Amino acid sequence: MIEHLWRFPVEPDSVLKTRFAPSPTGRMHLGNARTALFSALLAYRQGGHFVLRIEDTDAARSTVLHAEGVLEDLRWLGLPWQEGPFYQSRRQDLYAEHFEALRAQGRLYPCFCTPEALAEQRRSQLAAGRPPRYDGRCARLPAAEVDRRMAENQPAALRFRVPEGQTVVFEDLIRGPQCFESKDIGDFVVRRTDGTPAFFFSNAVDDADMGITHVLRGEDHLTNTPRQILLLEALRLVAPYYGHLPLITGHDGAPLSKRNGSQSIAELRATGYLPLALVNYLARLGHHLEKPGLLSLDELAAAFDLAAVGRAPARFDPAQLMHYQKLAVSALPVDAFLAFAELGDDRVPEAVRADFVRAVAPNVNFPAEARAWAECLFTDQPLVGTDDLADLHAAGSAFFRLAAALFEAHPDDAGAWTRAVRDQSGRSGKALFIPLRLALTGREHGPELRDLFALMPRPIVRARLAAAEAACAVARSEMP
Ligand code: GLU
Repeated sequence: MIEHLWRFPVEPDSVLKTRFAPSPTGRMHLGNARTALFSALLAYRQGGHFVLRIEDTDAARSTVLHAEGVLEDLRWLGLPWQEGPFYQSRRQDLYAEHFEALRAQGRLYPCFCTPEALAEQRRSQLAAGRPPRYDGRCARLPAAEVDRRMAENQPAALRFRVPEGQTVVFEDLIRGPQCFESKDIGDFVVRRTDGTPAFFFSNAVDDADMGITHVLRGEDHLTNTPRQILLLEALRLVAPYYGHLPLITGHDGAPLSKRNGSQSIAELRATGYLPLALVNYLARLGHHLEKPGLLSLDELAAAFDLAAVGRAPARFDPAQLMHYQKLAVSALPVDAFLAFAELGDDRVPEAVRADFVRAVAPNVNFPAEARAWAECLFTDQPLVGTDDLADLHAAGSAFFRLAAALFEAHPDDAGAWTRAVRDQSGRSGKALFIPLRLALTGREHGPELRDLFALMPRPIVRARLAAAEAACAVARSEMP
């Protein structure tokens, strides 16, 4: 039995090391981002190292642009790595050394099967109701036949000879004890026909070479783990602890994808999500966190606990993400809020910047909304907004004539102004505030009316009240 049960020789002074090892074949999405975050938090929490490794051995599918995208996304999320980035495409010498070690032990053999032959093998196994696995036909080729094909330069991959009759046991950090029979694992490719290392191989060799102690990765990798443990055993390298994170699903229960609402980190960033909102949300996606509210990365790391990672699929909930977005936006200091909203210029008058942010931030989720408020409050336009103006029209011209006159009596005191309008118009509550709000902003909802009143330049308040009065007159004349 090959037993990998809490066997890692953790020295008292050894550093806990986790890693994020994406294949740069597309933009980072929520699933990878959560894997990166959990791995980073586990390391930060222990004062360990978070390592970044780019698994770019598949030249046909990896691109430099996507590798750069990973770095950009991690930096933006605020997840610093302490080692790397390491690129597998630059580590061929190390892999060659380990191929040689396995070859010398007789653990590898060349496989000449074409992709078509392998597909056919798979089809017939499935048709016979058997699980598909390599049937070992090249393992049985006579040496002379192998030599002949090699001399002919027939393309050959290298397969790892899986030992017979073994049980591979390991303790998954999240899912508990795991047990696999070697007879269910077909001999697998460790070096492709083009000479590049296959995922199982370079991934396992690098984890050992880099001293990774804890691997957190998606559940889809669970069945790869026994293969990797067998490889590491053969190479006499130390295997890390593995923890397999449950899948993230969409609202429909299907794996999260573009179809059911997934977006890449780059897309979320472009929409205006804040990195702290995302990490706060992701830290609670399939991980139970006692503390509510917006936490800093340090607080998230301190609260991170592998025992609190669930085994059931985690459902992506955009409403929860929005909840953290609201908290993160509200928590932004004045200058950071203005930078987030791209309002660093003079669209918000210097004197009222702090007041603007205080009033508007709790009503805003994304930058465009903040810009719309700046435009509404500080630009001279007759009547803004898109909300239904029926309540404004219903108040009538006389109401706004009165409001305008009383504004001149109380130009700097919203409370005194609205009280005077109430007393003299006989309107109160919603019947008073909705028409005034519509007149000043064109919207029924938003920050406190008294805050908006205080922020707006006086000439703009005056012009809006006049415009409201005129709009009522027009509406009345148009009535049948
Ligand atoms: N390159 C692999 C992936 O992106 C890494 C898997 C692992 O973390 O071990 O799926």
